[in-house]
Amino acid sequence: MAKKSSSEKLYKQAQKVLAGGVSRNTVYHEPFPDYANVASGCYITDIEGTARIDFANNMAALIHGHSFPPVIDAVIEQLKKGTAYTLASEIEVAYAKHLIKRVESFERIRFVNSGTEAVMAMIKASRAFTGRSKIAKAEGTYHGTYDFAEVSQTANPTNWGDINHPASVLLAHGTPKSVSRDVIIFPYNDVERTLSILDRHADEIACVIIDPVPHRVGLMRGTNEFIEAVYAWTRKNDALLVFDEVITFRVNYGGTQEDYKVKPDLTSLGKIIGGGFPVGAVAGRADVMKVFDPHEKNLLLPHSGTFSANPITMTAGYKAMQYFDKKAVTKLNALTQKAISQIREAIQLAGVPVSVTGAGSMFRMHFKATPPTTYREAYLSKEAGALVKELLDYMYYEEKILMINTFSCMLSTVMTQKEIDRLTEGLFRAFK
Ligand code: PMP
Repeated sequence: MAKKSSSEKLYKQAQKVLAGGVSRNTVYHEPFPDYANVASGCYITDIEGTARIDFANNMAALIHGHSFPPVIDAVIEQLKKGTAYTLASEIEVAYAKHLIKRVESFERIRFVNSGTEAVMAMIKASRAFTGRSKIAKAEGTYHGTYDFAEVSQTANPTNWGDINHPASVLLAHGTPKSVSRDVIIFPYNDVERTLSILDRHADEIACVIIDPVPHRVGLMRGTNEFIEAVYAWTRKNDALLVFDEVITFRVNYGGTQEDYKVKPDLTSLGKIIGGGFPVGAVAGRADVMKVFDPHEKNLLLPHSGTFSANPITMTAGYKAMQYFDKKAVTKLNALTQKAISQIREAIQLAGVPVSVTGAGSMFRMHFKATPPTTYREAYLSKEAGALVKELLDYMYYEEKILMINTFSCMLSTVMTQKEIDRLTEGLFRAFK
């Protein structure tokens, strides 16, 4: 077993070869990241030998936890037959059939390699279909790293502007200014202001992107009223309503969209549908998805990707989703509800002003006595951010529990009451 501070030593080497020492900022942690050695079920062990319960599940991507045996067995079989071909594969057809059967709004699907790529394909498809360049997204939402999807992702009190017309804040330095002109920002769950903002760009908007339970906004559900109002607006103005379900697909058997009367025209997927491997997909109405169709004389959106629908991801994803059947979804969501009610008890007992938001198998805690309903309400001030970091560090180092850095948990089907009790008891001590 590695000696103490192996991670620190490794990070010193990493800084000489990886920009900033990491390949994704998510895993960076002050003063150095820990390095994983092995993970199995709902436990992850670092190279110092410390095992922790994993409530992060690779940012909500592992619905069955780590090394789920049915996925491992299926992938081993596929590995022997090849990992990627310049030919189509049977497994991608089988998996496409499975996903289309699961969700009413899916008529055609295309697989890609990440959630970012799925959102990008969804935006480009919307533009190709409507011939319009502007998109509308909610303030503060995270939709991956495509230039247009990044706008306003980290809006903060110094730059978010008047709530009646939130600013289109660019993220990466040097992003063309024209990007901000093509992204209209609206306040999530605020029907009146959103419709008034959209109306100002009525003939120009290709699609309105909605994450039905946006994590960075505060992990609160889009209300029926809001989703239905935006849907009606898109019908009236020849725009598309598109859902980013990269993270929220886990909420129901057929994604969070199952909960709404109205259905999106397109949906982006990622995370759990890869069974632990890199994945993304865009699915939706057959007439809109035609923009990808190479049979068309006038092909509107040429689209390819070297590793898209590679047979390893397809095998793992298909197996994982077969095991995430209706019964498994119901059981996991019930366990999550149990966790939330135990946490609410711990909050009360500790006498702290904390509230919980979430849906399905995801929840987030806030330092507010009543749950926030908007991005601006949920926004973490510097002081609140420091407190969250302190609590997360306590949970990680003392209670041996890994959570997501927004003070959120994403459960997996291999969790039991035992892990929930450890989480709630740990949180109680943390709150105290
Ligand atoms: N959309 C949403 C809602 C997400 O949560 C994420 C990832 N956190 C993405 C898009 C981007 O996915 P990926 O990291 O696979 O590119």
